[in-house]
Amino acid sequence: MNILVINAGSSSLKYQLLNPETGDLLAKGLCERIGIDGKFTYKPQLAGKETLDAIDVAMPTHSEAIQAVLDALVDAKNGVIGSMKEIDAVGHRVVHGGEKFASSVLITDEVMAAIEECNPLAPLHNPANIIGIKACQALMPGTPMVAVFDTAFHQTMPPKAYMYALPYAYYENDKVRRYGFHGTSHKYVSGRAAAMLGKKPEELKLVSCHLGNGSSIAAVDGGKSVDTSMGFTPLAGLPMGTRAGDLDAGILQYLMNKYGMNIDEMLNILNKKSGVEGLSCVSSDFRDLENAANSGDEKAKLAEEKFAYEVKKYVGAYAAAMGGVDAIIFTAGVGENDKGIRAMVCEGLEYMGVKLDAEANKGRGKELVISAADSKVKVLLIPTNEELMIAQDTAAIVKG
Ligand code: AMP
Repeated sequence: MNILVINAGSSSLKYQLLNPETGDLLAKGLCERIGIDGKFTYKPQLAGKETLDAIDVAMPTHSEAIQAVLDALVDAKNGVIGSMKEIDAVGHRVVHGGEKFASSVLITDEVMAAIEECNPLAPLHNPANIIGIKACQALMPGTPMVAVFDTAFHQTMPPKAYMYALPYAYYENDKVRRYGFHGTSHKYVSGRAAAMLGKKPEELKLVSCHLGNGSSIAAVDGGKSVDTSMGFTPLAGLPMGTRAGDLDAGILQYLMNKYGMNIDEMLNILNKKSGVEGLSCVSSDFRDLENAANSGDEKAKLAEEKFAYEVKKYVGAYAAAMGGVDAIIFTAGVGENDKGIRAMVCEGLEYMGVKLDAEANKGRGKELVISAADSKVKVLLIPTNEELMIAQDTAAIVKG
């Protein structure tokens, strides 16, 4: 079985063709500058097939982008499948499913309408996801399509976790609540953690730390998300590459009044000029921060410390929320690669049974237990694979 996974943005589209049963990747790539000039990248994973790297392909709309993907996949010389019939289904990443979708779903006209109703909750992302779905439907009539939502995994949170202490009417009338994001990643690594520990998901209390350019933490109790750090939008929770994370809302009024900023200008600062980049005045990239900190840059060191400190606080908070923790998972760009941040997070957590193995913590990019043999709480390094999770969900749904 082959599943085409599509992650459509407003001017770009990532894709992978993979086998959900074996996890084998057949090809992956990227369409960029859709609606501008169009750049197409195709990376077949089979021996003897040639990569196309950012070549010019006219892409006035997402339709031409998806057509380029399909043409490349079935190309006589460099393709990885014989015909489009070998694509059994398409799994689409959709950012926001609101309260309507607690799991992945086969796309029907009713589902499309319900996804469109979620557009106001993710105005930058959902409309682009919908354009990608419609373009695929037009080019691949008869191929089942599945929507996999970033928010769905967190729909199991109890009201005390997802409600804000705002007037209740804002929830009832306006759907203002915590939704959480990165759900596909948290679900995938939680499942892998159970497999690594030889336990059923229902038996485990996990703190899943997805630390990348965007970062979020989830408390996963018995296989279900019971709390998460991102909120109504992905701006909440941890400080990130350029996002501020949680802060006192009173700061907005103070700075907006003082500098005559409107709310869009303020939010631009909170989304794009804050986080570790804003704090360090160096970079949003943790490799740059580490280099700068090693060269004595105090602000870069502070940014690393602030980030790790906030992660540590969430670990403690979620252990309290769940009444314990069996394993802490590190995933995504920083979580998978940055041994320094992992060590800073775990340092001082010995009292709750967390003991990192310094040698094992040097590992990166593969599934590893990085806690000491006698650590009560296991610490796991698990590379995330959102595309495989999307492909597996898609396969499960089309198989019924
Ligand atoms: P992601 O959003 O998951 O793709 O993560 C991207 C981020 O991971 C980058 O901005 C870097 O901050 C971080 N990253 C990637 N590779 C490394 C590495 N080798 N060491 C430290 N941080 C890394």
